[in-house]
Amino acid sequence: MTRILIVEDEERICSFLQKGLRSNGYAASVARLGQEALTLCSTTNFDLILLDIGLPDVNGFEVLRRLRAQKRRAAVIMLTARDAVGDRVAGLEGGADDYLTKPFSFDELLARIRLRLRPDRSEEPTIIKVGEAVLDLRTRTLSVGGKTVELSAREFALAELFFRHPRQVLSREQVLSNVWGYDYDPGSNVVDVYVGYLRKKLGKERIKAMRGMGYRLEMG
Ligand code: CA
Repeated sequence: MTRILIVEDEERICSFLQKGLRSNGYAASVARLGQEALTLCSTTNFDLILLDIGLPDVNGFEVLRRLRAQKRRAAVIMLTARDAVGDRVAGLEGGADDYLTKPFSFDELLARIRLRLRPDRSEEPTIIKVGEAVLDLRTRTLSVGGKTVELSAREFALAELFFRHPRQVLSREQVLSNVWGYDYDPGSNVVDVYVGYLRKKLGKERIKAMRGMGYRLEMG
């Protein structure tokens, strides 16, 4: 079983990540402090570490530095609250494999994790076709009828969820938890708003509203 270590001091994010990872078949451990993470890593070989930068004791950069100094080879994805370019550069130079800016959706995190864990990345299907629409997961672009369509990060995450589950009815709750993650208000109409944006770009008939149930991506 793949072992993932979550290093994060925020309770809400921790339990969200741990629950999600476990339901996707990963063994997920948690460390709330940098020192605790280092101790755990000295006894357990984790396959991947989700490493928050802002920790109460030793910060994420320092944890990463010490892990790499000990030749720990686990893939490391840094979690940063700030969209600071400096953090990304420092993280990647320090030996991180990837980074994610909070708030992120669980789907996006899962995609990054799978990418990092897969030994031969060339085998991953990166293109999903639905009718004349083509979603490229590697370049994160959508084209419809051969023309590139601009999508925001959130629209792309929403498109990816639908394209990965064609012909399947997705409820608002499923879409919220997959695309907006822990960072959403359950009462908001944000799903309908974003499905509206996506319909404009994909063609209105492509995503069908199922009364009282949710939405479905049509194949034909
Ligand atoms: Ca933190």
